[in-house]
Amino acid sequence: MDGRVLVTGAAGFIGFHMVRRLLADGWIVSGIDNLNDYYDPGLKRDRLAQLEGHPAFQFQPLDLANRETMQTLFAGPHFDVVINLAAQAGVRHSLEAPHSYVDSNVVGFLNVLEGCRAQGVSHLLFASSSSVYGANNRLPYSVHDPVDHPLSLYAATKRAGELMAHSYAHLYGIPSTGLRFFTVYGPWGRPDMAYFSFTQKILTGQPIPVFNHGQMQRDFTYIDDIIEGVTRLIPHAPGAQNTWPEDPASSAAPFCIHNIGNHTPIALTDFIHTLEGCLGKSAQIEWLPMQDGDVVATYADVSPLQQSVGFAPDTPLHKGLQHFVNWYRQYYG
Ligand code: NAD
Repeated sequence: MDGRVLVTGAAGFIGFHMVRRLLADGWIVSGIDNLNDYYDPGLKRDRLAQLEGHPAFQFQPLDLANRETMQTLFAGPHFDVVINLAAQAGVRHSLEAPHSYVDSNVVGFLNVLEGCRAQGVSHLLFASSSSVYGANNRLPYSVHDPVDHPLSLYAATKRAGELMAHSYAHLYGIPSTGLRFFTVYGPWGRPDMAYFSFTQKILTGQPIPVFNHGQMQRDFTYIDDIIEGVTRLIPHAPGAQNTWPEDPASSAAPFCIHNIGNHTPIALTDFIHTLEGCLGKSAQIEWLPMQDGDVVATYADVSPLQQSVGFAPDTPLHKGLQHFVNWYRQYYG
Protein backbone atom coordinates (compact mmCIF):
# COMPACT_ATOMS: atom_id res chain seq x y z
CA MET A 1 0.00 0.00 0.00
CA ASP A 2 1.63 3.29 -1.00
CA GLY A 3 -1.44 5.51 -1.38
CA ARG A 4 -1.55 8.90 0.30
CA VAL A 5 -4.38 9.83 2.67
CA LEU A 6 -5.27 13.21 4.15
CA VAL A 7 -6.88 12.99 7.59
CA THR A 8 -8.35 16.23 8.93
CA GLY A 9 -8.78 16.43 12.70
CA ALA A 10 -5.76 14.14 13.10
CA ALA A 11 -5.17 15.29 16.70
CA GLY A 12 -8.78 14.57 17.63
CA PHE A 13 -10.11 11.42 19.26
CA ILE A 14 -11.29 9.57 16.14
CA GLY A 15 -8.67 11.18 13.87
CA PHE A 16 -5.81 9.94 16.06
CA HIS A 17 -7.09 6.34 16.02
CA MET A 18 -7.74 6.60 12.26
CA VAL A 19 -4.19 7.77 11.52
CA ARG A 20 -2.74 5.02 13.68
CA ARG A 21 -4.71 2.36 11.75
CA LEU A 22 -3.85 3.83 8.33
CA LEU A 23 -0.14 3.86 9.19
CA ALA A 24 -0.35 0.26 10.39
CA ASP A 25 -2.01 -0.64 7.07
CA GLY A 26 0.86 0.96 5.14
CA TRP A 27 -0.66 4.24 3.93
CA ILE A 28 1.30 7.50 3.71
CA VAL A 29 -0.68 9.86 5.93
CA SER A 30 -0.86 13.65 6.04
CA GLY A 31 -2.66 14.97 9.11
CA ILE A 32 -3.99 18.44 9.77
CA ASP A 33 -5.67 19.95 12.85
CA ASN A 34 -6.01 23.47 14.26
CA LEU A 35 -5.41 22.16 17.82
CA ASN A 36 -8.16 24.41 19.20
CA ASP A 37 -8.91 24.63 22.92
CA TYR A 38 -12.52 23.35 22.91
CA TYR A 39 -11.06 20.74 25.26
CA ASP A 40 -7.56 20.23 26.71
CA PRO A 41 -5.09 20.91 23.85
CA GLY A 42 -2.48 19.00 25.92
CA LEU A 43 -4.44 15.79 25.25
CA LYS A 44 -4.40 16.57 21.51
CA ARG A 45 -0.64 17.15 21.61
CA ASP A 46 -0.14 13.88 23.52
CA ARG A 47 -2.13 12.00 20.87
CA LEU A 48 0.02 13.57 18.15
CA ALA A 49 3.19 12.68 20.04
CA GLN A 50 2.17 9.00 19.63
CA LEU A 51 2.08 9.46 15.85
CA GLU A 52 4.97 11.80 15.20
CA GLY A 53 8.20 10.06 14.40
CA HIS A 54 6.45 7.51 12.16
CA PRO A 55 8.26 7.89 8.81
CA ALA A 56 4.99 7.82 6.82
CA PHE A 57 3.23 10.50 8.91
CA GLN A 58 3.39 14.24 8.41
CA PHE A 59 1.43 16.78 10.47
CA GLN A 60 0.58 20.40 9.71
CA PRO A 61 -1.26 22.71 12.15
CA LEU A 62 -3.89 24.10 9.75
CA ASP A 63 -7.36 25.56 10.10
CA LEU A 64 -9.95 24.13 7.71
CA ALA A 65 -11.77 27.46 7.66
CA ASN A 66 -8.77 29.31 6.21
CA ARG A 67 -9.37 29.22 2.47
CA GLU A 68 -5.87 30.25 1.41
CA THR A 69 -4.00 27.70 3.52
CA MET A 70 -6.39 24.96 2.39
CA GLN A 71 -5.81 25.91 -1.24
CA THR A 72 -2.06 25.71 -0.64
CA LEU A 73 -2.45 22.29 1.00
CA PHE A 74 -4.39 20.90 -1.95
CA ALA A 75 -1.93 22.48 -4.43
CA GLY A 76 0.69 20.12 -2.94
CA PRO A 77 1.06 16.32 -3.27
CA HIS A 78 -2.00 14.43 -4.53
CA PHE A 79 -4.21 12.66 -1.98
CA ASP A 80 -5.78 9.40 -3.10
CA VAL A 81 -8.21 9.47 -0.21
CA VAL A 82 -9.42 12.29 2.04
CA ILE A 83 -10.99 11.49 5.43
CA ASN A 84 -12.62 14.57 6.95
CA LEU A 85 -12.91 14.14 10.71
CA ALA A 86 -12.17 17.73 11.78
CA ALA A 87 -15.22 19.51 13.13
CA GLN A 88 -16.46 21.55 15.99
CA ALA A 89 -18.14 18.71 17.88
CA GLY A 90 -20.54 18.73 20.83
CA VAL A 91 -24.32 19.21 20.82
CA ARG A 92 -24.65 21.40 23.91
CA HIS A 93 -21.73 23.69 23.08
CA SER A 94 -23.41 24.56 19.77
CA LEU A 95 -26.02 26.49 21.74
CA GLU A 96 -23.22 28.60 23.29
CA ALA A 97 -20.74 29.10 20.41
CA PRO A 98 -22.75 28.79 17.18
CA HIS A 99 -20.28 30.59 14.91
CA SER A 100 -17.48 28.09 15.51
CA TYR A 101 -19.78 25.32 14.16
CA VAL A 102 -20.47 27.11 10.91
CA ASP A 103 -16.78 28.10 10.55
CA SER A 104 -15.41 24.55 10.91
CA ASN A 105 -18.29 22.32 9.81
CA VAL A 106 -19.70 24.35 6.91
CA VAL A 107 -17.06 26.84 5.66
CA GLY A 108 -14.19 24.50 6.58
CA PHE A 109 -15.87 21.52 4.95
CA LEU A 110 -16.51 23.56 1.80
CA ASN A 111 -12.75 24.19 1.64
CA VAL A 112 -12.18 20.42 1.87
CA LEU A 113 -14.71 19.78 -0.92
CA GLU A 114 -13.06 22.42 -3.10
CA GLY A 115 -9.67 20.80 -2.48
CA CYS A 116 -11.08 17.38 -3.42
CA ARG A 117 -12.48 18.89 -6.62
CA ALA A 118 -9.19 20.63 -7.47
CA GLN A 119 -7.21 17.40 -6.95
CA GLY A 120 -9.76 14.94 -8.32
CA VAL A 121 -9.39 12.71 -5.23
CA SER A 122 -10.59 9.17 -5.73
CA HIS A 123 -12.59 9.01 -2.51
CA LEU A 124 -13.82 11.39 0.17
CA LEU A 125 -15.05 9.97 3.47
CA PHE A 126 -16.49 12.49 5.93
CA ALA A 127 -17.78 12.37 9.48
CA SER A 128 -21.45 13.07 9.98
CA SER A 129 -23.39 12.21 13.13
CA SER A 130 -26.38 10.34 14.52
CA SER A 131 -27.61 13.77 15.64
CA VAL A 132 -28.89 14.42 12.09
CA TYR A 133 -31.87 12.14 12.93
CA GLY A 134 -33.05 14.87 15.32
CA ALA A 135 -36.77 14.76 15.97
CA ASN A 136 -37.10 11.43 14.15
CA ASN A 137 -38.39 9.02 16.78
CA ARG A 138 -38.62 5.88 14.65
CA LEU A 139 -36.11 3.41 16.01
CA PRO A 140 -33.71 2.09 14.88
CA TYR A 141 -32.50 5.02 12.78
CA SER A 142 -32.26 4.01 9.13
CA VAL A 143 -30.24 5.86 6.51
CA HIS A 144 -33.51 6.01 4.56
CA ASP A 145 -35.29 7.99 7.32
CA PRO A 146 -36.07 11.68 6.78
CA VAL A 147 -33.45 13.91 8.40
CA ASP A 148 -34.87 17.39 8.00
CA HIS A 149 -35.62 18.23 11.66
CA PRO A 150 -32.27 18.76 13.44
CA LEU A 151 -32.59 19.69 17.13
CA SER A 152 -29.28 21.52 17.50
CA LEU A 153 -27.05 23.71 15.36
CA TYR A 154 -24.38 21.00 15.57
CA ALA A 155 -26.82 18.55 13.95
CA ALA A 156 -27.80 21.16 11.35
CA THR A 157 -24.16 21.71 10.34
CA LYS A 158 -23.58 17.95 10.08
CA ARG A 159 -26.65 17.57 7.84
CA ALA A 160 -25.47 20.59 5.83
CA GLY A 161 -22.16 18.76 5.30
CA GLU A 162 -24.00 15.71 3.92
CA LEU A 163 -25.98 17.87 1.50
CA MET A 164 -22.88 19.78 0.40
CA ALA A 165 -20.97 16.54 -0.21
CA HIS A 166 -23.91 15.17 -2.21
CA SER A 167 -23.93 18.24 -4.45
CA TYR A 168 -20.17 17.92 -5.08
CA ALA A 169 -20.48 14.20 -5.79
CA HIS A 170 -23.27 14.98 -8.25
CA LEU A 171 -21.62 17.98 -9.91
CA TYR A 172 -18.01 16.85 -10.01
CA GLY A 173 -18.21 13.06 -9.65
CA ILE A 174 -16.28 12.98 -6.36
CA PRO A 175 -17.00 9.54 -4.86
CA SER A 176 -18.11 10.35 -1.30
CA THR A 177 -19.14 8.39 1.77
CA GLY A 178 -20.85 10.01 4.76
CA LEU A 179 -20.23 8.38 8.15
CA ARG A 180 -22.96 8.82 10.76
CA PHE A 181 -21.12 7.95 13.96
CA PHE A 182 -23.08 7.01 17.10
CA THR A 183 -21.67 8.12 20.54
CA VAL A 184 -18.08 6.97 20.19
CA TYR A 185 -16.08 6.07 23.32
CA GLY A 186 -12.71 4.57 24.15
CA PRO A 187 -9.07 5.27 25.11
CA TRP A 188 -7.80 8.76 24.19
CA GLY A 189 -11.45 9.89 24.15
CA ARG A 190 -12.98 13.34 24.43
CA PRO A 191 -13.09 14.95 27.90
CA ASP A 192 -16.26 16.88 26.98
CA MET A 193 -18.26 13.66 26.53
CA ALA A 194 -20.41 12.25 29.33
CA TYR A 195 -18.55 8.93 29.84
CA PHE A 196 -15.28 10.82 30.31
CA SER A 197 -16.56 13.38 32.82
CA PHE A 198 -18.59 10.65 34.63
CA THR A 199 -15.32 8.75 35.12
CA GLN A 200 -13.51 11.84 36.42
CA LYS A 201 -16.36 12.65 38.82
CA ILE A 202 -16.90 9.11 40.12
CA LEU A 203 -13.19 8.77 40.88
CA THR A 204 -13.09 12.11 42.71
CA GLY A 205 -16.38 11.57 44.57
CA GLN A 206 -18.30 14.36 42.83
CA PRO A 207 -21.96 14.01 41.81
CA ILE A 208 -22.57 13.30 38.14
CA PRO A 209 -25.31 15.27 36.35
CA VAL A 210 -27.73 12.89 34.60
CA PHE A 211 -30.20 14.57 32.29
CA ASN A 212 -33.79 13.53 31.55
CA HIS A 213 -33.67 11.68 34.90
CA GLY A 214 -31.60 8.91 33.28
CA GLN A 215 -34.35 8.06 30.76
CA MET A 216 -32.03 8.51 27.80
CA GLN A 217 -30.63 5.77 25.64
CA ARG A 218 -27.45 5.96 23.62
CA ASP A 219 -25.99 3.57 21.09
CA PHE A 220 -22.46 3.64 22.60
CA THR A 221 -19.93 2.52 19.99
CA TYR A 222 -16.38 1.45 20.75
CA ILE A 223 -13.64 3.35 18.89
CA ASP A 224 -11.99 0.24 17.37
CA ASP A 225 -15.31 -0.71 15.76
CA ILE A 226 -15.66 2.79 14.30
CA ILE A 227 -12.16 2.55 12.83
CA GLU A 228 -12.78 -0.94 11.44
CA GLY A 229 -15.99 0.25 9.77
CA VAL A 230 -14.37 3.34 8.22
CA THR A 231 -11.33 1.34 7.07
CA ARG A 232 -13.51 -1.18 5.25
CA LEU A 233 -15.31 1.67 3.51
CA ILE A 234 -12.05 2.91 1.96
CA PRO A 235 -11.83 1.28 -1.45
CA HIS A 236 -8.56 -0.60 -1.92
CA ALA A 237 -7.80 -0.71 1.82
CA PRO A 238 -6.89 -4.19 3.13
CA GLY A 239 -10.16 -6.02 3.80
CA ALA A 240 -12.25 -3.30 2.09
CA GLN A 241 -15.41 -4.47 0.39
CA ASN A 242 -17.24 -1.22 -0.28
CA THR A 243 -19.40 -1.64 -3.35
CA TRP A 244 -21.17 1.72 -3.73
CA PRO A 245 -24.74 0.90 -2.81
CA GLU A 246 -27.42 2.71 -4.79
CA ASP A 247 -27.82 6.28 -3.65
CA PRO A 248 -31.13 6.43 -1.72
CA ALA A 249 -31.79 9.83 -3.28
CA SER A 250 -31.73 8.01 -6.66
CA SER A 251 -29.29 10.41 -8.28
CA ALA A 252 -26.39 9.10 -10.31
CA ALA A 253 -23.86 10.61 -7.91
CA PRO A 254 -21.27 8.21 -6.45
CA PHE A 255 -22.52 9.02 -2.97
CA CYS A 256 -23.63 7.00 0.03
CA ILE A 257 -24.19 7.38 3.74
CA HIS A 258 -23.72 4.76 6.45
CA ASN A 259 -24.69 4.53 10.08
CA ILE A 260 -21.75 3.29 12.15
CA GLY A 261 -23.18 2.37 15.54
CA ASN A 262 -23.34 -0.57 17.93
CA HIS A 263 -27.08 -1.18 17.25
CA THR A 264 -27.54 -1.81 20.99
CA PRO A 265 -29.05 1.22 22.75
CA ILE A 266 -28.15 1.37 26.45
CA ALA A 267 -30.11 3.32 29.08
CA LEU A 268 -27.93 5.89 30.81
CA THR A 269 -28.67 4.32 34.20
CA ASP A 270 -27.35 0.94 32.92
CA PHE A 271 -24.35 2.69 31.42
CA ILE A 272 -23.54 4.22 34.82
CA HIS A 273 -23.86 0.82 36.55
CA THR A 274 -21.41 -0.68 34.04
CA LEU A 275 -18.98 2.19 34.56
CA GLU A 276 -19.23 1.78 38.35
CA GLY A 277 -18.34 -1.90 37.87
CA CYS A 278 -15.29 -1.06 35.75
CA LEU A 279 -14.11 1.58 38.24
CA GLY A 280 -14.97 -0.43 41.36
CA LYS A 281 -16.58 2.69 42.82
CA SER A 282 -20.17 3.96 43.18
CA ALA A 283 -21.51 7.12 41.56
CA GLN A 284 -23.39 9.92 43.26
CA ILE A 285 -26.08 11.06 40.87
CA GLU A 286 -27.71 14.44 40.42
CA TRP A 287 -30.93 13.84 38.46
CA LEU A 288 -31.72 16.70 36.09
CA PRO A 289 -34.41 17.47 33.47
CA MET A 290 -33.94 17.12 29.72
CA GLN A 291 -31.58 19.62 28.06
CA ASP A 292 -32.34 21.66 24.95
CA GLY A 293 -30.87 20.13 21.80
CA ASP A 294 -30.68 16.56 23.18
CA VAL A 295 -32.55 13.57 21.79
CA VAL A 296 -34.05 10.85 24.00
CA ALA A 297 -32.66 7.80 22.22
CA THR A 298 -30.21 6.84 19.50
CA TYR A 299 -30.12 3.42 17.84
CA ALA A 300 -28.36 2.60 14.56
CA ASP A 301 -29.72 0.33 11.86
CA VAL A 302 -26.43 -0.95 10.44
CA SER A 303 -27.76 -3.52 7.97
CA PRO A 304 -26.57 -1.50 4.91
CA LEU A 305 -23.06 -1.33 6.43
CA GLN A 306 -23.12 -5.04 7.17
CA GLN A 307 -24.25 -5.80 3.61
CA SER A 308 -21.74 -3.43 2.09
CA VAL A 309 -18.56 -4.29 3.99
CA GLY A 310 -19.43 -7.43 5.95
CA PHE A 311 -18.91 -5.77 9.32
CA ALA A 312 -20.92 -4.05 12.05
CA PRO A 313 -19.75 -2.77 15.43
CA ASP A 314 -20.28 -5.32 18.21
CA THR A 315 -17.89 -4.65 21.12
CA PRO A 316 -19.90 -5.17 24.34
CA LEU A 317 -20.10 -2.07 26.54
CA HIS A 318 -18.43 -3.63 29.59
CA LYS A 319 -15.44 -4.69 27.49
CA GLY A 320 -15.00 -1.33 25.72
CA LEU A 321 -15.50 0.65 28.93
CA GLN A 322 -12.91 -1.48 30.72
CA HIS A 323 -10.38 -0.60 27.97
CA PHE A 324 -11.26 3.08 28.45
CA VAL A 325 -10.95 2.92 32.24
CA ASN A 326 -7.58 1.12 32.01
CA TRP A 327 -6.28 3.84 29.68
CA TYR A 328 -7.74 6.60 31.88
CA ARG A 329 -6.02 5.29 35.01
CA GLN A 330 -2.72 4.98 33.17
CA TYR A 331 -2.91 8.41 31.47
CA TYR A 332 -4.08 10.42 34.48
CA GLY A 333 -2.12 8.33 36.98
P1 NAD B 1 -12.55 15.78 18.36
O1 NAD B 1 -13.01 17.13 18.79
O2 NAD B 1 -11.73 14.98 19.30
O3 NAD B 1 -11.77 15.89 16.99
C1 NAD B 1 -11.98 16.90 16.05
C2 NAD B 1 -10.64 17.55 15.77
O4 NAD B 1 -10.86 18.54 14.76
C3 NAD B 1 -10.05 18.27 16.98
O5 NAD B 1 -8.74 17.81 17.23
C4 NAD B 1 -10.05 19.75 16.59
O6 NAD B 1 -8.91 20.44 17.08
C5 NAD B 1 -10.07 19.67 15.08
N1 NAD B 1 -10.71 20.83 14.46
C6 NAD B 1 -11.88 21.42 14.80
N2 NAD B 1 -12.12 22.47 13.98
C7 NAD B 1 -11.07 22.52 13.11
C8 NAD B 1 -10.74 23.38 12.04
N3 NAD B 1 -11.51 24.43 11.72
N4 NAD B 1 -9.59 23.16 11.37
C9 NAD B 1 -8.78 22.12 11.70
N5 NAD B 1 -9.04 21.27 12.72
C10 NAD B 1 -10.18 21.48 13.41
O7 NAD B 1 -13.87 14.98 17.95
P2 NAD B 1 -14.04 13.44 17.54
O8 NAD B 1 -14.89 12.82 18.59
O9 NAD B 1 -12.75 12.85 17.18
O10 NAD B 1 -14.95 13.61 16.26
C11 NAD B 1 -14.44 13.42 14.94
C12 NAD B 1 -15.59 13.63 13.97
O11 NAD B 1 -16.64 12.70 14.24
C13 NAD B 1 -16.22 15.01 14.06
O12 NAD B 1 -16.58 15.39 12.75
C14 NAD B 1 -17.47 14.78 14.88
O13 NAD B 1 -18.46 15.74 14.58
C15 NAD B 1 -17.85 13.39 14.45
N6 NAD B 1 -18.64 12.63 15.43
C16 NAD B 1 -18.08 12.23 16.61
C17 NAD B 1 -18.85 11.50 17.51
C18 NAD B 1 -18.30 11.01 18.83
O14 NAD B 1 -19.07 10.42 19.60
N7 NAD B 1 -17.02 11.21 19.15
C19 NAD B 1 -20.19 11.19 17.20
C20 NAD B 1 -20.71 11.62 15.98
C21 NAD B 1 -19.92 12.32 15.10
